[in-house]
Order: sequence, then structure tokens, then C-alpha cells
Amino acid sequence: MRDYVRPTSVSQAISALEEAGDAGIVKMGGCQVVPLIQRGALADRVVVGLHGIPELRGVELRNGSGLRVGAAARLAELAQNPRLQVRYPVLGRTVGAVGSPAIRNMASLAGNVAAGLPNSDLVPVLAVVRGVAEIQGPAGVRSVPVDRLAERTPAEELARGEIISAVSLPEPPAGFRAGYRRFALRAALDRPIAAVAVGLELSDGACRGTRVALVGAGPTPIRAPAIEAALDGRPLTEETIAAAVGVVRETVEPRGDEQASGDYRRTLLTVLVRRALDDMSGDAPAGSPREIDGAPVRNTERE
Ligand SMILES: Cc1cc2nc3c(=O)[nH]c(=O)nc-3n(C[C@H](O)[C@H](O)[C@H](O)COP(=O)(O)OP(=O)(O)OC[C@H]3O[C@@H](n4cnc5c(N)ncnc54)[C@H](O)[C@@H]3O)c2cc1C
Repeated sequence: MRDYVRPTSVSQAISALEEAGDAGIVKMGGCQVVPLIQRGALADRVVVGLHGIPELRGVELRNGSGLRVGAAARLAELAQNPRLQVRYPVLGRTVGAVGSPAIRNMASLAGNVAAGLPNSDLVPVLAVVRGVAEIQGPAGVRSVPVDRLAERTPAEELARGEIISAVSLPEPPAGFRAGYRRFALRAALDRPIAAVAVGLELSDGACRGTRVALVGAGPTPIRAPAIEAALDGRPLTEETIAAAVGVVRETVEPRGDEQASGDYRRTLLTVLVRRALDDMSGDAPAGSPREIDGAPVRNTERE
């Protein structure tokens, strides 16, 4: 690499990236960037390491409106964070299962989002819990929902000098349930060939605000509006689930690659949608609402 810069504030990082121009590249945990450095692939680049910036660390409670996960927060840290685990068990379990312990000790949530992986486990889950990327750059701070960022791709969305400074998670609404199912060749270390995340509110017996995000149905993790429409406004019954599974079969057109044919991926997605919805159907788990930070947590997601 041409240079390695270690800023101690976000404004220094933004200035360093602006100065470096096209040569600038951010490094956070380094899961992807370090192997590139080791292979000599970044010989002409200026690497800007963000992990020493105190304002990017930690998980904060935001005045009753959810959590702000700093960009430097590692997956291993999030897997142990009670605030995140209680509000969004689906995200808590997923961060705790990415890669291996060594990977989770390096990898950041923001880095996983910024990497624009076609088969991230975390982006689809963030999409259904309505995660929002906080982006800071020369023009100030802006917010982009993770589902939109993923579909447009971070490389296209982030302007020169911009970094993802945090991922915000809103407080889960009453009656919120979510599920995630994935298929990978090896359960550990491999990213999924296909995966399905579903999030919805059960209100007056019907699904509301339904979000479905798929991995393997397109070049990036994408929302599936036709499946969402098949669920929204209906009770989460066997009939509704069967109809939603039928919509997957009719509307999803995955591409084939060296890991799986398009037809195989469609079959996987059909099975995974069925399993995710089965996980979420039925009565809410027994017991009173859990509390954390003095507030009742209404998440009724089933294990
Ligand atoms: C062996 C292995 C197994 C893995 N298994 C899984 C898995 O099962 N599921 C899964 O979802 N992922 C998996 N991953 C991917 C891993 O989760 C991501 O590589 C990691 O989260 C990236 O975060 P990082 O902090 O290490 O990013 P880095 O490697 O530091 O950066 C990754 C990319 O994002 C950019 N970037 C990083 N942070 C920011 C930021 N704050 N703002 C702007 N740009 C930024 C960098 O410039 C770079 O392009 C695996 C990776 C490895 C190496």
C-alpha cells in the first residue's frame, strides 16, 4: 500500500479520504481489506483505518427510539450485547453465527454492510428490522435504509470521503416477530447460497408492515415485494404461508453460478420461506414481556 493513515476522529478520516481521492480505501476490522493488503492488491492505495476512532465505538440506546450501533462495533461484541439481543434476538443470533470466533472478533456490522456482499447474512436481517446506515462525509450526515443501500450497492451509494459511521435499529413495534433461515454448503464459515429473512408485526391477528429479504434471488440481498404482499393483512396461518410459498415459486428468478443453478436456488428459497414462516407462526412464547433499560420489550419472536 502507498500509505496507511490512522485517524482519531471521523472528521480526520473524512479529510484523509478526500485527500487520497480515488486511491483512498477504508479499513475497519479488515476481514476483507487485510487479505488484499497481504496479496499486494492495494499497492497504490491509501488505507484509512477507522478502528481507532472513539466516536465510532459502542452500542448506544437512543432516547427510547432504538439502538445506534457504532461502525467499529465488532460482531463478537454485538453477540454479547444484551440490549441488542433482547430487542432483536434474530439479529443477535445471526451476528453470533457469522464465520468463526476469529472472524467475529475482527468483523464489524458496518463493514459487513459496506462490503456489498451478494450473500451477506446480516444485510437481509437488518433489512427486515428496518436498519438504517448513518453516513458521514464532506457534506454532513445522512441516513440510508440498509435495504436501499444493499440494492443500489454501497460502492454506488457512498460518495468520495463518505463512511458508514453507524447502523441504527429502531425500537421493535408491538407484536413484532422475525425469522431468518439460511442454506450454506458448510454450516460454519460459508456464506449462504440462499437465505430468507422475514419481519412483521402481528396486529389484530393479521400480519402488518411485512418485510421479506432474500439472498440468492438477485446479485445483492433484495426485498421481495410480491411475497410481502401475499402476507400483509392476512393471518399467519397455514393457508397464508402456503400462498406465500407459491409466490416464491412463481416470482423468484435466481441466477445460476458455480455454487448452485437458478432452479436449485429457487427450490432452496421456497423451502427457506416456508421454514422461516413456520418458525414465526403459532402463539407467542409464554411469559411476561422482557424488560431492559427499564422499558418492556415487546419482541415476541419465537426461537
Ligand atoms: C472466513 C470468512 C467467513 C465469513 N463468513 C461470513 C458469514 O457466514 N456471513 C456473513 O455475512 N459474512 C461472512 N464473512 C464476511 C464478514 O462478515 C465481512 O467481511 C466483515 O463483516 C467485514 O467487516 P470488516 O470490519 O472486517 O470490514 P473490512 O474488511 O475492514 O472492510 C470491508 C469493506 O467495507 C469497506 N468498509 C468497512 N467499513 C466501512 C465503513 N465504516 N464505511 C465505509 N466503508 C467501509 C472497506 O473499504 C472494504 O471495502 C466472512 C468473512 C470471512 C473472511
